Amino acid sequence: NNFEQLGLNELLLSAINDLGFENPSEIQQKAIPLLLEKNTDIVALAQTGTGKTAAFGFPLIQKVDLSKKHTQALILSPTRELCLQIANEIKQYSKYVKGLHTVAIYGGASITEQAKEIKRGAHIIVATPGRMQDMINRNMVNIKHIEYCVLDEADEMLNMGFYEDITSILSDTPEEKSTWLFSATMPAEVARIAREFMHSPEEITV
Ligand code: AMP
Repeated sequence: NNFEQLGLNELLLSAINDLGFENPSEIQQKAIPLLLEKNTDIVALAQTGTGKTAAFGFPLIQKVDLSKKHTQALILSPTRELCLQIANEIKQYSKYVKGLHTVAIYGGASITEQAKEIKRGAHIIVATPGRMQDMINRNMVNIKHIEYCVLDEADEMLNMGFYEDITSILSDTPEEKSTWLFSATMPAEVARIAREFMHSPEEITV
């Protein structure tokens, strides 16, 4: 199995080649063709280190419509470090996709600077739930037209007490988007988010 067979475009394949990734990981083999092919919700049970960031990052990069300037994808992640890591990975993967803007927003840094970055254009936003909710409250960000929402490390986010923020943020997004949930474990609270906010998700386990 190789990356060419997954349906990724030349711009992504060139970046993957530069990074020296030889073969797609199991989660990538299972998720990428599915996410490229149909607008479906997924619940993926996957630990860190499995290549899950690329499993959702590659399809997102390929699906963003650069002719539209508004935010099309929101990735929620538990910590500042993870947000920065995900945003960095997406920037590397999209190095040949000229004009694609990815912005990370998280607490502990200037909110006005982050608002300025978003104003300059953010096709993809990677955010911690607390800072995201704060910026929504202050009308600094608009996620009313997103088409993709990724909940990364959902169990961790809920462990950290982000249930209210996550549900409030999801309520601010369109009903007819695709939601991709990634979690290492499936406690009741994660299952509840899936039940309340997702539409017959396909399940992927690695
Ligand atoms: P993640 O599970 O998303 O945190 O990824 C773990 C690490 O594996 C990251 O540093 C990626 O750059 C790397 N990685 C992701 N996919 C592949 C792949 N198919 N082959 C080699 N390395 C990869």
